[in-house]
Amino acid sequence: MTTTESVLPPFLALSREELISWLKEQGEPAYRARQIWSWIHQQRAASFDDMSNLPKQLRDKLKASFTLFQTEVLKHQKARDNTEKLLLRLRDGEEIECVLMRETSRRTICISTQVGCAMGCTFCASGLLGLNRNLTKAEILEQIYRLDRLLKTDERLTNIVVMGIGEPLANLKELLPALATVHAEEGMNLGVRRVTISTVGLPGKIEELAETGLSYNLAISLHAPNDALRTEIVPVNKNIGIDKLLAAADTYFERTGRRVSYEYILLGSINDRPVHAEQLTTLLRHRNAHVNLIPMNDVAELPFHSPSAPRTQEFAEMLSDAGINVTVRKRKGADIDAACGQLRLNEQKQKSVGSQIVTLKS
Ligand code: SAH
Repeated sequence: MTTTESVLPPFLALSREELISWLKEQGEPAYRARQIWSWIHQQRAASFDDMSNLPKQLRDKLKASFTLFQTEVLKHQKARDNTEKLLLRLRDGEEIECVLMRETSRRTICISTQVGCAMGCTFCASGLLGLNRNLTKAEILEQIYRLDRLLKTDERLTNIVVMGIGEPLANLKELLPALATVHAEEGMNLGVRRVTISTVGLPGKIEELAETGLSYNLAISLHAPNDALRTEIVPVNKNIGIDKLLAAADTYFERTGRRVSYEYILLGSINDRPVHAEQLTTLLRHRNAHVNLIPMNDVAELPFHSPSAPRTQEFAEMLSDAGINVTVRKRKGADIDAACGQLRLNEQKQKSVGSQIVTLKS
């Protein structure tokens, strides 16, 4: 990348309408927008030069006016189960991660929405260093397109989970336009029902999402069945409370008709006892809900660990025996630090040469 290129605006920030008006300004016909969009969103072009049905002079103008990809791939890891992970460096030097997972015919990607996270969940690697900033629409889209370009010619992206670094509902302003591009018929034409947004559970924002009328799958990181414990491990709960959160989830279900999923990370000896399964059952029994149990991914700096597999199974059975819909999340890409925030944290650690990281342990 040359210096002039690196200061050009990102192409992915443009909406279709903005592209059409840019083309107009250049004296180009509007149908070029369809061709360019097809190259980017469907034909996996790696550069403007790939766009072989555009006149060379238009390709040159595009090159002189925009950068197609503004991030740099710092690391590309492949796990034994074919999970792939990218560590991307943004223009301002910040780093984010995104993941591609392969499971039977599903090709699911997991994307980030912020650099770091302000929520401070005690078991999560992403929030250990706090929040630096929101990602832009272009940076969110770029993760999607970079991962899509890792697929083989006959593979298609089938699902997006917004479960990477950051709190998606704290950045709806950039996330929703990015997803709108993905849903567009001339974009990737991937339906809203193929997208799952995972949130720590911000009631006002859940209602705002419901208001959009888009039926995204909503996954709420509940993680504890009573307020005292939830506030301990998910500190933002202090000002929210489980009742208010579940009420917002009910509104979401009423407006969208989508069953809400509740994520519940299993932390050995903390929230994995029979009494917790009972309390969780009481909360969810009369709701159209699904519980996704997540075995804790170890984070070196943190004292929590997943319970044993049999104990996890017992917890799941207690819920299902009580009539709750429950699954245990499969671990993907364990050998490449694929859980959210781990790779970035490890990178930051190496950079900080030990000074900052000591404080993480306290
Ligand atoms: N901020 C959003 C989305 C990002 S995290 C949210 O809270 O939902 C995606 C999911 O991974 C959340 O359920 C989160 O609690 C969980 N998670 C965080 N750290 C984890 C870890 N070390 N092991 C397993 N799951 C983790």
